[in-house]
Amino acid sequence: MLEGLGVFGFEGAVYPVNPKFDELLGHKAYASIADLPEAPDLAALCIGRAGVLDAIAQCAARGVRAAVIYDSGFSEAGGEGKALQERIVAMCREAGIALCGPNCMGILNPSARSTSFKQTIRTAQGLAGNVALVSQSGSIAGTLLADLRRFGFSAVVSSGNEAVVDLAQYIEYFAADPATKVIAAFIESVRNPARFVAALDRAANAGKPVVILKVGKSERTQHAITSHTGGLAGESRVFSEVLRAHRAIEVSDLDEMTEVLAACQGARWPEGRGINVLTTSGGQAELILDVATACGLELTPLASEARALIETEVGPITGDGNPLDAWGDGNAKRNMPISLRALDENAATDVIVFCSSDSVDDQPLGRAGRELDYARILVEAAQKSEKPHFLMSMRPGVMHTGQVRYLAEAGIAVVGGARQGLGAIQHVMDWRRALPKPAAEVAPTALPPCRTINEHDAKRILAGFGLPTSHERLGVDLPSARRAALEIGYPVVLKIAADEAPHKSEHGLVAVGLRDADALAAALARMTDVARRIGAPVDSWLVQEFIADGVEVFAGVSRDPDFGLALAFGMGGVGIEVMKDFALRMLPLRAGEAREMIAAVRGAALLGAYRNKPAADVESLVACIEQLAAFAWANRDQIDEIDLNPIKVREAGRGCVIVDALIVTRG
Ligand code: ADP
Ligand code: MG
Repeated sequence: MLEGLGVFGFEGAVYPVNPKFDELLGHKAYASIADLPEAPDLAALCIGRAGVLDAIAQCAARGVRAAVIYDSGFSEAGGEGKALQERIVAMCREAGIALCGPNCMGILNPSARSTSFKQTIRTAQGLAGNVALVSQSGSIAGTLLADLRRFGFSAVVSSGNEAVVDLAQYIEYFAADPATKVIAAFIESVRNPARFVAALDRAANAGKPVVILKVGKSERTQHAITSHTGGLAGESRVFSEVLRAHRAIEVSDLDEMTEVLAACQGARWPEGRGINVLTTSGGQAELILDVATACGLELTPLASEARALIETEVGPITGDGNPLDAWGDGNAKRNMPISLRALDENAATDVIVFCSSDSVDDQPLGRAGRELDYARILVEAAQKSEKPHFLMSMRPGVMHTGQVRYLAEAGIAVVGGARQGLGAIQHVMDWRRALPKPAAEVAPTALPPCRTINEHDAKRILAGFGLPTSHERLGVDLPSARRAALEIGYPVVLKIAADEAPHKSEHGLVAVGLRDADALAAALARMTDVARRIGAPVDSWLVQEFIADGVEVFAGVSRDPDFGLALAFGMGGVGIEVMKDFALRMLPLRAGEAREMIAAVRGAALLGAYRNKPAADVESLVACIEQLAAFAWANRDQIDEIDLNPIKVREAGRGCVIVDALIVTRG
């Protein structure tokens, strides 16, 4: 670290503290923190776990306001280490010391030419840039620092155990840091969920993407599961949804992260949705199209005017013109500028991506300087255009540094790999689109004080809120159940209505399609026996209209212990539990999200028309999901879970009906 400060040309005072030396690496050394001529801004403690507590006490006494502890063996080790960390935290809080670590590598701050980073710094060349990285793993930080060809760092924080200053606070800082354009985070765990999401919002509002790679998603705390489908809470996908709701870019590996950070280096960021790729080879064009299609990236066919223009000037185009093979007669100096200009003039093109053969330093084949010729043509085209231009190599990580540097000076970013590179551009595009606003909030409902609210009561509450529920009546015995059935009209459904039996059919306490009074009597007699056996009341029966038609779907809300209420939608039956085929969104729900959720569920194809079956009433389902979300959000302080399972979606125009409902309050 001392050497690193030298490499950076750090201009502030440096005070080594070590009683065994008079001088260290050219700096006068001091015997103790108390002996220092002034209180330093930062104390970097490299003294081993045993001495840390005493050192922090000395820092506090000397008025030091920031410190780094590199050593491990604290909370991550449990037991004694955990207790020691707690004492350090208490001391830091009292003295107002911002602590990085313990169990970390410290902070590298190229933009301020300062460092407390533990690793040796060989050269400061290329380290400075606009990416702020917060990594809970020091070695992942090291991995990303190994490649500075396309971007450098405003700061790199190896945050370790985050005993005092945590991820959320670092993100807050970088959201306001003028040297930072984009924030990257490698996360094992989020220690302060509320502050974390607020920090994400702050970064988004500051116009800075936060690119997040989260590991160990499956280890998330499970919470007590009350309902059948409640297994959704503690679901790892909740974290992804939180990121979506707060406009972070989630990536699943370091390749993807690196490409997104590289894609953010261009002077112009993608605005619209139209990516056009230009190649100099038919094979490449075909491969790029296959790869893009397989990962759900849309390359819209080239518009006919642009196509006609290129065909007259360059020659026939194979395929649908996106990717566009602009090789023509091989005269790149003529054909490329014409094609690039046609794309610039094409209204549907928002982003132009040029992909030639991969170039590397010291490449064995091909004319020397060829990569710079292409780069020059691209730069000239970009200068005449207002659209963002990218250079893409076919593989991630493969590039020619001279070409990259030349393009960077012209504000053109270089990405790699059809999947990773185009995917990164798409990520930035998606990020640029503002999220739709959540629906207006409505007034909360007074809910009964019990923990589980049974089907009948839950439906009355939901119906009061405007949700479509089945027509039904309560009965206390056979005669009143018969009267209810006559009023509703046969066939009917008979169920137990009791808070003690939230899962009715499990015990045989649901009978559907009862055609007449005799069938009703038989079902009631049988269910009375069951209810007695399991200790449920025998004087509370629900008689309900039988909805014979419709597709069964599920919609529900559950509480994630860290991030609050999430809404799930899936098909009825085994769709959710077995197939894990469900869509998830955090509340409050935003405009358009209910429809997106339905579209995202594979089984929801069953809602469309097929064979002789007419399409189901998806519009009414969208409305129902939106109402459920609004109800849950309005009552978010009271609700732990809501299950509408099933909702029967009838054919288009006939609406949907909630035939079973359960509300679990926070008790
Ligand atoms: P459980 O408490 O076991 O979830 P439900 O009330 O959901 O009980 O009933 C079990 C099944 O019976 C439902 O999944 C649905 O298929 C069917 N069912 C329940 N109520 C009706 C109804 N009113 N009309 C048609 N089918 C129904
Ligand atoms: Mg049910």
